[in-house]
Amino acid sequence: MTVAKDVRQKKIIMGKLQHGSDLLEEFTQLAEDKNIRLGRIEAIGAVQKACIGYYHQDRHEYRFIELNQPLEIVSLTGNISIKEGKPIIHSHIALADNSGALHGGHLAPGTTVFACEYIIEIYDGPTFERSFDPETELPLWNIT
Ligand code: ZN
Repeated sequence: MTVAKDVRQKKIIMGKLQHGSDLLEEFTQLAEDKNIRLGRIEAIGAVQKACIGYYHQDRHEYRFIELNQPLEIVSLTGNISIKEGKPIIHSHIALADNSGALHGGHLAPGTTVFACEYIIEIYDGPTFERSFDPETELPLWNIT
């Protein structure tokens, strides 16, 4: 079932991440520290190495792809919602290698920041809580 909820922009923050930090963990920590419970995130920059996930829709499991090379963050886009009472980042990332070829997928832990500039829009709205979805076996938004 398609669901649409109204949300309202509360605040926008901009910043940069620490060189050498884990991209996903740093955004998760930032959301916890600033108590961001709903929002959208975007970023550009570069990573020293990356780990991205591809969800196998028949097997219902992630396959993780490790890219052990410096890459440009062409685009990172994602959202912030709630899982088990805490903020969770769900982000996808497009990365370019030194030939300009793109690699992309679900951002996983193991992606190391070289430089990263981000913008986060913080929203007011209903709680978007993630819970187990039996159809996909993914932690999807439990909203009706
Ligand atoms: Zn994903």
